[in-house]
Amino acid sequence: MAMPDGVKTHPDYPVPETMKAWVLGDPGQLSLVDKPVPVPRKAEVLVRIDAVAICATDLEIIYNGPPALIRGGPPHNKGFTPGHEYMGTVVALGPGVDEYRIGERVTVEIHAGCGQCKRCRMGMYTSCHNYGKNWGDVDKGHRANGFTTDGGFCEYQVNSVNTLIHVADSMSDEEATLVVTAGTSMYGLTELGGLVAGESVVVMGPGPIGLLGAAVAKALGASPVILTGTRDNRLEMGLKLGADHVINVRNEDAVEAVRRLTGGRGVDYVLECSGATNAVNEAARMLNRGGKICLAAFPHEAVPVDVAYLVRNNIYLYGIRGEGKSATHRAEAFMREKRFDATVIHTHTFDMTELPEAIRYARDRVEDAIKVVVKNRHAAARAIAAQ
Ligand SMILES: [Zn+2]
Ligand SMILES: [Zn+2]
Repeated sequence: MAMPDGVKTHPDYPVPETMKAWVLGDPGQLSLVDKPVPVPRKAEVLVRIDAVAICATDLEIIYNGPPALIRGGPPHNKGFTPGHEYMGTVVALGPGVDEYRIGERVTVEIHAGCGQCKRCRMGMYTSCHNYGKNWGDVDKGHRANGFTTDGGFCEYQVNSVNTLIHVADSMSDEEATLVVTAGTSMYGLTELGGLVAGESVVVMGPGPIGLLGAAVAKALGASPVILTGTRDNRLEMGLKLGADHVINVRNEDAVEAVRRLTGGRGVDYVLECSGATNAVNEAARMLNRGGKICLAAFPHEAVPVDVAYLVRNNIYLYGIRGEGKSATHRAEAFMREKRFDATVIHTHTFDMTELPEAIRYARDRVEDAIKVVVKNRHAAARAIAAQ
């Protein structure tokens, strides 16, 4: 048996000693190697990974390195396995774990904060003050899978029980990989102060977080929900997910269009997911006085912001980092109740062994790819055999 004493396993879910895992070499170089299956510690479980969605941040990490931080430095040539939007089946329980059972399907949040710092105590574990301190004599128990610890482009991974979300049988593996994305959108809306039914929202940028942001805002009762972007096919998806209006900013001035759609008043909230250079200034001008902006994306260079406009109009500016305050659980509840169909943004599926090709689809947006999912075929085969 691969797992040590104190770790619970079950004969229906045998755990091997080694697994296939993709590791990052030089920038852009991934190779498939054998690694030991990791062992869950106190308050952790071992997840057999069934499906993983590829995120723009994975591409950033694979091709450039940051924001991944391994043992205090860049993630290259350290045997690091990226990938963070995964789901799977619990196959082993660390000492003392009784919150989840073996065989249960779960999807995972990325960040297990240290649980000790000021921000973790506030539920802001994505802003943990001990971020990356998970090695050497400063080990605080922090994990951010695919960022500071090994992630999901492999067969098994350990997760803190705090990062697990139960997946209903009615939800497919592919849909379950999107819970954390919807959770990030939910966190943005939570940080804006909790959306009130009937209040108006603009979502800028129809990437995965923006599209699911429109869906979550609608599910929370926002009205109207207005989505802006440059690609008609993505704006179409926004309509399917619940947006009341879409604006293609290539064809019309977004600020004027928002003003027109709101009787000249402007909206109460903007969820900024485009990262465009002038996004903060445009968002401010879409708002009514006292409105709030949440920034969920950013440009790569420093950009000028009209601070006087923000101050004169009492505009609140928030930034979010990842999926804090258990927002994923609230997002999953909406998805379980079919309040929106997140699978609209899932466009392609590959086998885990085809990860480089899957990444090419995601990076080059081949065939208008948005969310590309890779699946562990052996895991699926085992699940069928067990039925
Ligand atoms: Zn992501
Ligand atoms: Zn912390």
